[in-house]
Amino acid sequence: MIDFSFTPEQELFRRTIREFVQREIRPMSPEWDKNHEYPREVFKKMGELGLPGVHVPTQYGGSGMDRVTSGIAAEEVARGDLSCGYSVMLGGLLGDLIDEYAVDRLKQEWLPRIAGGESVVALGLTEPSAGSDAASIKLKAVRDGDEYVLDGEKTSISMCSVADAIVLFARTGAEEEKHRGVSTFLVPLDLPGITTTQFNDMGHHAVGRGSVFFDSVRIPADHLMSSEGTGFIQVMIGFDYTRAIIGLMCLGSAAASVEDTINYVKEREAFGRPIARFEGVSFPIAEALTRIDAARWQCYRTLWLKDNELPHTAEAAMCKWWAPRISVEIIHEMLLLHGHYGYTDEFPLEQRLRDVIGLEIGDGTAQIQKIVIARELIGKEYKPY
Ligand SMILES: Cc1cc2nc3c(=O)[nH]c(=O)nc-3n(C[C@H](O)[C@H](O)[C@H](O)COP(=O)(O)OP(=O)(O)OC[C@H]3O[C@@H](n4cnc5c(N)ncnc54)[C@H](O)[C@@H]3O)c2cc1C
Repeated sequence: MIDFSFTPEQELFRRTIREFVQREIRPMSPEWDKNHEYPREVFKKMGELGLPGVHVPTQYGGSGMDRVTSGIAAEEVARGDLSCGYSVMLGGLLGDLIDEYAVDRLKQEWLPRIAGGESVVALGLTEPSAGSDAASIKLKAVRDGDEYVLDGEKTSISMCSVADAIVLFARTGAEEEKHRGVSTFLVPLDLPGITTTQFNDMGHHAVGRGSVFFDSVRIPADHLMSSEGTGFIQVMIGFDYTRAIIGLMCLGSAAASVEDTINYVKEREAFGRPIARFEGVSFPIAEALTRIDAARWQCYRTLWLKDNELPHTAEAAMCKWWAPRISVEIIHEMLLLHGHYGYTDEFPLEQRLRDVIGLEIGDGTAQIQKIVIARELIGKEYKPY
């Protein structure tokens, strides 16, 4: 049996978020972008609606719902502002990791704060010399009695200047051990020896991105999540979830751009008629709607596979390269259909274009996703290395 419908509860959830986004997020998004302003209060309100904790277990203050429902949350929030979608994406990914691998005391401490939108936890994988080749990270975690001592740099970390903690991946084994020497730690960001810097990015201004430096930072040994050497597998399983969520965030932004454009081309006249009458205008819109529809279902199917504990690594990688790519192309096309107005910040299109391009890179580039798909569907023996 194939059933492509959302449940009545999911439809109600979608409507509730859409109204919230229309009221609280969409009108303010250009201002946050211009002022590089993190909307702390709105992130808290998203917490009250249960968005960062959609599938955090109810015992920790979450909603305990499925991944398909978190996809709805991500898509709807990103229709108003892509940066705000980080609340759903990071809450879902890091909530899962903490729930699965942290000791009970840390779950009690952090999960309710994540679910309630009171705390942001960032993800720390990338380093100056290791992005795509994440198994080559160097940041060291050395055991010293009841503590670990962290030394090194994480870079390109979204929300690092507003986050209260970071789930980071550090080297506990030798560099030659590659991914088998990587472990995961939950690290509060107010410890002595931690400093952050901020990048001047082209988009994602409301959340920002930067580097986090660790200079002999001491953390209790129980901040190791699970056991030494298991970190790489943990993050890769997590990425199988975020890749579909990122796809839906980008598609939400693209869908909002198409809707805005449909309204615009019905009103705007040239040669004595609404430009919607010209097929040179209506066909790109028809094509955009077609592509969004196909990619959306690919993302929801991937989340459905995850909910049903079925393999979905290749499908997640498909979502991650294709949905951001077509979203960039679609927003670009919609911007052009606005003529010169589209090129100004009077309309949200240029902001959306800048924002969505970031997610072509964040969480892994298209090339890396295609390597994953090829590995899964052609065979591991044909990997490039
Ligand atoms: C908006 C944004 C948000 C981000 N947020 C976070 C975050 O919160 N936490 C975090 O840890 N990181 C984050 N990142 C970092 C991101 O995950 C990395 O930038 C990404 O994994 C790519 O790594 P890199 O930038 O080092 O590129 P590189 O690895 O240096 O790659 C450069 C180019 O070479 C290509 N390339 C590399 N290897 C291969 C190969 N084998 N075959 C073909 N092509 C290849 C890549 O596709 C890319 O085009 C973010 C990045 C962005 C842009």
